[in-house]
Amino acid sequence: MKKKFVCPHCKGVLNPNVKIILLADTGEARGLVLLSPQPGNYKYLCDSSLEKHLRHGETIDFACPVCHADLMAASDPSLAALELHMESHPVRRVEFSRVFGTHATFVISEDEVDAYGEDADGYDPMNFFGA
Ligand SMILES: [Zn+2]
Repeated sequence: MKKKFVCPHCKGVLNPNVKIILLADTGEARGLVLLSPQPGNYKYLCDSSLEKHLRHGETIDFACPVCHADLMAASDPSLAALELHMESHPVRRVEFSRVFGTHATFVISEDEVDAYGEDADGYDPMNFFGA
């Protein structure tokens, strides 16, 4: 079943093929990054002009390549948020760490949070249910 990752602001599809395409801004460099649609897989692709500015522990600003909206999560500014649309499933939220090298991803539905990545333990899942 096809998973569609969607911008929460403009509803633009961010994985027209397989990988999720986001705009990344380190403060020193901007570029497109390709992320895996598989939660917990932290492999990424980007151009060397961006990659040389990616440093462990630094926060990256992720933006939608369609509408340029900031993807910072409302629940926690250290996370970025996307929507996950799948046929015959309610819309879920996918939130992942904006800190380079921190591996934490959450797939959030009405009544459940699935955590992925070895750094996910540092987060309080209760935060994800805030109004
Ligand atoms: Zn957008």
